[in-house]
Order: sequence, then C-alpha cells, then structure tokens
Amino acid sequence: MAKKQFKAESKKLLDMMINSIYTNKDIFLRELISNASDAIDKLYYEGQEGLNREDFYIAIETDPEERTVSIIDNGIGMTKEDMENNLGTIAKSGSLEFKKSLEKNVPDVDIIGQFGVGFYSAFMVADKVTVLSRRFGQEECWQWESTGADGYTMLESAMIGHGTRIILHIKPNTPDDNFDEYLMDYKLRALVKKYSDYIRYPIQMEVEKTRKKEGGEDNQFETYRDLETLNSMTPLWKKSKSEITDEEYADFYKSKFYGTEEPLRTIHYSVEGVSSFNALLYIPKRPPFNYFSPDYEKGLQLYTSGVLIMDKCADLIPDHFGFVRGIVDSDDLSLNISRETLQQNRQVRNIAKNIEKKVRNELTQMLNTAREEYDKFFEDFGLSIKFGLYNSFGQLKEDLQDLLLFYSSTERKLVTLKEYVSRMKEEQQYIYYATGKDIKTIERLPQIELLVDKGYEILFMTDEVDDFMIRMVREYEGKQFRSAEGDDLGIEESAEEKEALEKKQEENKGMLDKMKKMLAGRVAEVRISSRLKSNPVCLSVEGDMSIGMEKVLNSMPVQEKVSSQKILEINPDHTAFTALKAAFDAGDDDKLRIFSSLLYDQAALIGGLQVEDPVAFSNAICNLMK
Ligand code: ADP
Repeated sequence: MAKKQFKAESKKLLDMMINSIYTNKDIFLRELISNASDAIDKLYYEGQEGLNREDFYIAIETDPEERTVSIIDNGIGMTKEDMENNLGTIAKSGSLEFKKSLEKNVPDVDIIGQFGVGFYSAFMVADKVTVLSRRFGQEECWQWESTGADGYTMLESAMIGHGTRIILHIKPNTPDDNFDEYLMDYKLRALVKKYSDYIRYPIQMEVEKTRKKEGGEDNQFETYRDLETLNSMTPLWKKSKSEITDEEYADFYKSKFYGTEEPLRTIHYSVEGVSSFNALLYIPKRPPFNYFSPDYEKGLQLYTSGVLIMDKCADLIPDHFGFVRGIVDSDDLSLNISRETLQQNRQVRNIAKNIEKKVRNELTQMLNTAREEYDKFFEDFGLSIKFGLYNSFGQLKEDLQDLLLFYSSTERKLVTLKEYVSRMKEEQQYIYYATGKDIKTIERLPQIELLVDKGYEILFMTDEVDDFMIRMVREYEGKQFRSAEGDDLGIEESAEEKEALEKKQEENKGMLDKMKKMLAGRVAEVRISSRLKSNPVCLSVEGDMSIGMEKVLNSMPVQEKVSSQKILEINPDHTAFTALKAAFDAGDDDKLRIFSSLLYDQAALIGGLQVEDPVAFSNAICNLMK
C-alpha cells in the first residue's frame, strides 16, 4: 500500500524526534496523556446525553513480549480526515516559534523544552506508532500507522467503542538509552505521578500485586494483576481552603518539596481576572543548605489544567523571594503555554507580579503580628532580601526596605527602619550605621563613641553586602544614612566647640603634617578628632568607599586592589597624644615615626583591617618596653 507523505514541517520535526535532539524522552507520556484528556474534555463538554463524568478514563496497557505500550482513552476520537489532518501534519495549534526555528533550520533544543512537542514525541521512544480511533457517534474505525519520517499508512479497522488507542512499539535498547524501562510498571507509574498526577480523569493501569495465597500457608504468596488508578486527580490547590487541614498542607509540602519539617508559612489563594490562577506557596522554615550558592535553583512548579509543564519555573518568583516553594496552576495557559515560549509570556509575568506582592504582604503581616517569627525568618533569609535591593540598584527600594531588620545599639535587638526613624532625637539628622564582622566588634569601635555619647541609636551591620546595599537604599523617609566611620558625622557642634577644635588643629599643624608624611600611602590625612572619648585613635574615611567595602572588594579574586581614603583621627585628650607631642617638640623624628606607625596599626586593627607588617609592629612594641 502506498505510503502518504507527511507535510514538510512535520517531517523535519519527526526527524528531530527520531534522532532525539530533545533529551527528555520521558515527556512522551505526558504529551499523549494530555491529548487523551483533551479528547475526553471535548466529548464531555459537548454534553452528549447518556454520558457521565465517571464513565471516562484513560488507560495504559503494556505488553512486554510485543514491546508495546498503549495509551487508550474513551474520548471524542478521530475520523479518517481528523487523523490525516491532525497526525499527518504538525499540530495546527502548534507553536509558531517552533515553525520559525525549523525554517531557519537550526532547531533550538531549548525551545523544544519550552512547550509541548505533542503527538510526535511518541517517536522519541517508539520506532513504530499505530493509532486506532473511532469518532464518537460514527461507525467507522481507522488505523493510522507510521514508522517515522517516510510517511504513514491508513487502513480501515475494527474497534469497539469510541475513542483512541495509541500503540507505541518501543525501540530496542541502545548503549546510550534504556528503552526497556518504558515497558515497566514502575517507570510508567512514576511518570504519571510526576507529570500527570492531576489530570481530571483516572489514569488506569494493570499492575502486578502480591497477596497471600488462598488456602496456602502463611508464607505462601502469589502475584496477580489488578487495575489501579495511578493519578490522584484532584490537586490539593484546587480544593477550597476550608476543606484542607494544616496537616494536609504540611504533608503535601513535605512530600512534594522534600521538606523535613513543617513550612513556616503556607499561602494558598486564587485569582480570577486577566490572568486566572491558583497558587499554593510555602515559605520554608530554614534555607536549603545550598540556598546562597550559585547552584541553588529557584522556581515554582507550573501546571496548566493539571499537567505539569515545568518543574522549576524561575520566571514566576523573583530572586529576593527565591526561597519560596510551591505550585502555580493556570488554566489560561493551557492554550499556548506549552506551545509558546515561556519567558515572553505576558500571563506568566502577570502571575509572577501577583505572587511577588502576595509573598511580600505575607511577610509584612508576619513582621507586624508575629515579630519573633519574623526575626527568625530574617536571620535565615534576610540576606536574600538585601541582595535583592543591592542587585536591583535600589529599584526595589520601595518594595523591600520595610522588610529589612538591623541590630540596634540601643534596643539591643533587631529593629526596622521605620522604628529607628520614629525614635530619632529631635536634632538628629541622619540614620547612623556601623559595619563590622559581628556585634561585639562593632560595639568596641572607637568611631561610634561620640554617637553613643549623644545617645543616638546606631544600626549595626554585620553582613558583607550591607555596606553596598545601604548605598543603594540611600535614605529612608527623607533621612539619609550615614556611616559611623565617615569623616563627617553631620553632628551640629556649638560655636565654642568648633572654635576650640580648629584652634587645636592649628596649634598642632606642624606635627600633624609631619605624621601625614610619615604615614604616606596609608592615610590621606591626620587630624585632631572630635568624636573620640576614651580611645586614643581611630580611622575614618572620606568619600564613598568604606573600610568594610575595601576589605570585601580586595578579597575578590579578579578585582584590582582598591583602597579607601583613610583619615587617622587622634584623641587630643589621650596620653598617647601627649607622648606624640613630646617626641615632636624634642625633634625626635625616629620616635615620632614609630609612634605614628604604631597608632596607625592599632587603629587599623580595631577597624578590622590587617596590620601590613606584623613583624615590624611587634618589634616596635618590644622596643618601647626597653
Ligand atoms: P496539540 O495537542 O498541540 O494540538 P498534537 O500533535 O499533540 O498537538 O496532537 C495533534 C492533534 O491530534 C490534536 O490537536 C487532536 O486534535 C488530535 N489528537 C491527538 N491525540 C488525540 C486523542 N487521543 N484523541 C483525539 N484526538 C487526538
């Protein structure tokens, strides 16, 4: 019998399938089952009399000897013309993108992964495909058969009942591919669970079971075959909230996302409108071990009409909430999502926006009503939010700044920026912060002495990104941030204070200039300090780069070395100052050099920097002990 030829694009697509450019062969079952489900939908929604929902099913049958797997449905079926039109050509609803990529003759593997490949995916696992179908309400049954790109044959056939049976003749194993698997119950069951668990109709398969042998001894068992429904059909997220217990939510989370403990928060909601969808989202209690590493993959599961389209759809959740796990199901996507590329999809973007807001609101609510819980959350995930602010160059400021927490010098706990600002002293102009490796180190910083003395609250920042991030936030409620180590704290001084300081600066100009020369390359200036109370010296910085930033940047492998503009501030009321002055007045330059160097090293150490020459530093101290 003469073979009919496939249409041109179909031929190319088939070639690709046969040569398995697309590596995820598993999806063939998902594609065929969702076609079966669509076919049942079509018949069911026609509302034919005498047809009940319960009568519909999809079945999988295996015959290991014949090496066949059949996918059967009692849906609407196809006429001869339907089969020629639908199976003889690339799906009419098929992707434009796909066609374009085929025209360019550069089939993009990624594009294939983005949408359903439809019926043709059968050829990834089968070397021959036979389709038997009878259209509902018609007498004729036809058989379509193809062994690949060389075309197909049509025969009239005998079949009882309406619907379609697709028989896949599974390929023999190759050194690279284990096709035998597709004849095994366990594999088929796993594929149904993974991709088609929420198809609305039962997917049945006869599976092997064991039971005690009737009339036999206690230890005598026999195997038998029994029909089993493989899919759970109604997805949890499609049920109404009132029907679901906390335990069910938690169990679902654990089984689906491999969580070992209850989630911190469960967000279950649906939206009707331009983009309709259901979402079931979870905020975990703890970040996964690799959360802050580049190999962590964020994303939500995307379903459409009960079919899993993508396991980790990254476009649905922004990086700053990358810890959220969950599921989004949108029937709106059913017509195009599996056929059109995903990233450009407007629906997906709308859904993502909505989800971002929802998660943000949930966190805000936790912050306002369950503060302890939020504190704990922030300790675990705060970094993610900070990176969000930093990486967006502050564009997400309005969205995220109120979710930030910092340790407060006066409250001795985590506080929000709003709380800080509400407590600011009347004359206080800036939001002060200090950075360091931990709270204790920051607490001892000489730079903060004056601020502490004035009773100002200081935000202690211990994450490396803080210094960078806060420069992106810049201000909160009109109050600018100011680093405690900046050269100007912006504190109003009285005229007398100012005058006295200037006088001291002037009187000691000779010594300060000399010290600056002696410390050339290390400091930009040496100055009398107005902020030190009990400490002899400290380093402050001029300009945008802080000492902390210098450290972070210099620890990066490829970065050119950078240096902050440091100022050595000296406390004029300290005995160290008296010693410096004595050396200067006596014209003892060697001593002045040693003292200056020691004081600089001290200030550097306190500021969290390393001493450039530890041996010289230690020798200098010993010399003093002589
Ligand atoms: P798509 O599902 O994207 O339209 P497919 O290549 O998967 O593309 O299928 C092509 C067409 O063949 C379907 O649109 C449908 O009309 C028809 N078809 C496929 N499988 C079945 C089935 N089991 N029952 C009835 N019609 C089917």
